[in-house]
Amino acid sequence: MTDDVRRAWLSAIDAHVCHRHEAAGDSCWCPEYDRMPRERLRQVQEEKLRLSVRYLYECSPMYRRKLDAIGMSPADVRSLDDLPGLPITTKEEMSASLAERPPFGEYTAIDDAHWNAHGWLMFTTSGTTAQPRAFRYTDFDRELWTWTDARALWSMGIRPGDRALLCFGYGPHVAMWGMLYALNRLRVPVIPSGGMDSRARAFALATYRPTLISATPSYALYLAGVLSEQGHDPHASGVRTIIALGEPCPDATRDRIRALWGDVEIHEFYGCTEAAPSCGGYTCGHALHFMEDTHLVETVDPETHQPTPPGVPGLVVITNLCSEASPQVRFLVGDVTTLSTDACACGRTHVHCSGFAGRADDMLNIRGVTLFPSAVEDMLRRMPELGDEFQIVLDSPDRRRERFRLVVEARPGADAAAVAARVEEETKARFDLRPEVEVVPPGSLPKTEFKARRVRDER
Ligand SMILES: [Zn+2]
Repeated sequence: MTDDVRRAWLSAIDAHVCHRHEAAGDSCWCPEYDRMPRERLRQVQEEKLRLSVRYLYECSPMYRRKLDAIGMSPADVRSLDDLPGLPITTKEEMSASLAERPPFGEYTAIDDAHWNAHGWLMFTTSGTTAQPRAFRYTDFDRELWTWTDARALWSMGIRPGDRALLCFGYGPHVAMWGMLYALNRLRVPVIPSGGMDSRARAFALATYRPTLISATPSYALYLAGVLSEQGHDPHASGVRTIIALGEPCPDATRDRIRALWGDVEIHEFYGCTEAAPSCGGYTCGHALHFMEDTHLVETVDPETHQPTPPGVPGLVVITNLCSEASPQVRFLVGDVTTLSTDACACGRTHVHCSGFAGRADDMLNIRGVTLFPSAVEDMLRRMPELGDEFQIVLDSPDRRRERFRLVVEARPGADAAAVAARVEEETKARFDLRPEVEVVPPGSLPKTEFKARRVRDER
């Protein structure tokens, strides 16, 4: 039974994957998928949703219990109208499943025997305090990641003739892996730089002249500085595209990247380990699209978890219609965004959004004011007298008082007192919060290659 259900699911996915690239070469990167009429898109989604729920019910004990608990069976899912009736799945449920059944939990559709026969790579969420959640992906998934990411890269203007420098290590984060395989599929050579320090990366940049860099936005800023220190002009580096991953990329950060690197296009991938490990979303130059033939995307109200319509902000919920290992249904990713079904200038029909401020879990509440660290980043990076790094430090020196400190780096030659006064004033004007500002010399705050930790909450 399980084998039949799995076969039906995999062949339904495969039926909606384009296999023409190998034959058609560069001219085919699936415009018919990205520009599918919405009625046709809905049919594809409904067919896959029905089979995915049946497959998960069969292969994931956690999902079977969730549906049984509300008296729902896979046969009750017939169309997209049934989607809001399916339960939301949270990180906390996965962690609970993991605690009960270590080390993999029961939230994926993969067991030991299947992994041993078909395993590709294992990924984990970045866990600092909690045990990281593990996801075992298969060779079938690798093909899907390759295809979806190649479609996304194509929409970003990446073509054979490009050369890529990937500023990520050989780590358990999903961010870089789909891109690596997709670049290979597009016949774009890759210069891996895991294990290199920033000086070695800058040397590789100047010597091998990639046209494309992928890094976190912060690291893209930092690397330009290292390149300059080595006597090279980033404007003359030959880099024409920067793909930013792993962190929000607010406008002021984009402006700084462009100021340093010259006339580059900045693109973004969007996803999460659990439900969109390859391409959940990608930029087209106008907006960030979700790949809707492979993923269902919804936004929900943060309190009630009821769907919010396009135009109304909510938390992102993703259903993965394109995975053997982890076809999660209604996974609460938790990023805050506003979806739009308006026509995009690029001609793609899939839903889009303008971007992300951050995950709801990252939102800070300081003396009753809520704000995202990315909003502080956007404010600080608009001030030319400041360097690129900063820290937000929250503590309570006594029980009645909550202290909000901003540690910023001044550019060489800047007057520290004037810098502190300006940061204080801008923060008050923008967030109605008065911080204590500490100005430190350039280069004294830590740089990280992946996901910078800029908030120290010691309250
Ligand atoms: Zn577009």
